[in-house]
Amino acid sequence: MSVRFVIIGAGPAGNTAATHAARQGAHVTMIERDIVGGAAHLWDCIPSKTMIATGGAMSFAQRLGGMGLETVTAEVDPAGLKDRVDGIVDQLNRSISGLLESQRVRLLQGSARFLGPHEVEVTTVDGTEVLPADAVLISTGSRPRIPAFCQPDGDRVLTTRDCYPPKVIPRHAVIIGSGVTGVEFVHMFASLGSKVTLIVSRQQVLPSKDPEVAAALEVNFLERGVSLLKGARAIAIDRTEDEVTVTCDDGRVVKATHAVLAIGSVPNSAELDVQAAGIELDAGGYVTINHHCQSNVPHVYAAGDVSGKLPLSSVAAMQGRKVAEHVMGLHTVEHRHLDYDKAASAIFTEPEIADVGLAEAEAFALGRKIRVTKVPFSVTPKALINNDARGFVKIVSDPMTGVVLGGSIVGRHAAELISVLALAVTAGLRVSDIVESLLVHPTLSEALAEAAE
Ligand SMILES: Cc1cc2nc3c(=O)[nH]c(=O)nc-3n(C[C@H](O)[C@H](O)[C@H](O)COP(=O)(O)OP(=O)(O)OC[C@H]3O[C@@H](n4cnc5c(N)ncnc54)[C@H](O)[C@@H]3O)c2cc1C
Repeated sequence: MSVRFVIIGAGPAGNTAATHAARQGAHVTMIERDIVGGAAHLWDCIPSKTMIATGGAMSFAQRLGGMGLETVTAEVDPAGLKDRVDGIVDQLNRSISGLLESQRVRLLQGSARFLGPHEVEVTTVDGTEVLPADAVLISTGSRPRIPAFCQPDGDRVLTTRDCYPPKVIPRHAVIIGSGVTGVEFVHMFASLGSKVTLIVSRQQVLPSKDPEVAAALEVNFLERGVSLLKGARAIAIDRTEDEVTVTCDDGRVVKATHAVLAIGSVPNSAELDVQAAGIELDAGGYVTINHHCQSNVPHVYAAGDVSGKLPLSSVAAMQGRKVAEHVMGLHTVEHRHLDYDKAASAIFTEPEIADVGLAEAEAFALGRKIRVTKVPFSVTPKALINNDARGFVKIVSDPMTGVVLGGSIVGRHAAELISVLALAVTAGLRVSDIVESLLVHPTLSEALAEAAE
């Protein structure tokens, strides 16, 4: 009899696990309470990147003067933007649903919880059903963290999820939180024409990133008129009919039309009744997993944001793939454990920021000997042709072997270009392998080859 594999949550982790396991012959049932594609499609990756792309087109339009063209003034059309976000999400979800259907994955629209280690109950509009399972994947994702001092109202005090679909473009948005999500929202609203204030609890935006990378972003924010309130923590948000007032712990006060909370996320685990199956959660509510993504109950796995590893769609999908391989017994063949330290990530701001592997600051903190080479895009012909020579490529390598250990890219298309370094880091390539690759001219990738010299 084929393996009965029950998956709770149809985000990137759940979908990838479902299609891979079904392809190997598992009998897969997937339960989703919202939409196929998960929060990644409904609120997070896709809507945010779609709106950022529109903002990017607007700021590109403003730079056309430097390309021998008359400057164009573009105006945002919130209704048109909403249609665009909805259209892209719909198209992606139809293609995932089609794939799941072709793999004969049974999809149930409803909420799931554990009745026991091998039993999952689903509540749908038609009632409840109990699903017996040989293996279960918890891929229920996460939701925005709400601070104790305020309650979002979806109107003026917003979580990141309240920003989609875009009803209005705020006249003045105050963003609380300067991590990846916070700075992307600063960039998005600033590009779409909002005045923006960012509350930065430390002395640097993106506190976990390379200081040189964070500094490049701060310069851009200041050039675009973004106000940075450094070393301040929001402690209260009050609202009137058409205004919000954010008070910080150092006494500073910001008045704006909208406040957006971007202070991290919490896992969706509380409603699963995991104790009925004896599954352990850590103090933050994340499912504790081993390197196979197994919980303390070996046939119950967790992947994606709920597993408390790197909260990225790409990581969630790869974990889902590894879970499917393990459930189907394929991990003994060509399985390689997921190395979270080698995950590439990007921040879709202007300039774009991307990194992978070991960072320079991290290597110094570890006392590890490294070689760091850096090339500005201003020496790259394609960057000049593009009328955007901001940013740089930095490669971190082993001084003895030349093996690429990591890198950062700041500048246009950084999120695409980092793939070359991600491949080098994963495959253990040397800087000489990049130097000797015959790249296309003129391209931005030539900066990678220069930095690898
Ligand atoms: C604003 C924002 C932008 C982001 N942009 C990017 C980006 O550009 N690139 C990137 O890699 N990552 C990005 N992320 C992170 C990314 O969205 C998450 O890492 C990713 O969605 C995690 O996928 P997942 O499979 O764990 O779960 P999710 O995508 O969160 O899906 C989980 C699903 O489980 C369902 N569910 C939960 N509980 C139950 C239950 N009891 N029963 C049934 N269904 C249930 C939910 O309805 C949801 O659909 C962003 C995050 C945010 C907040």
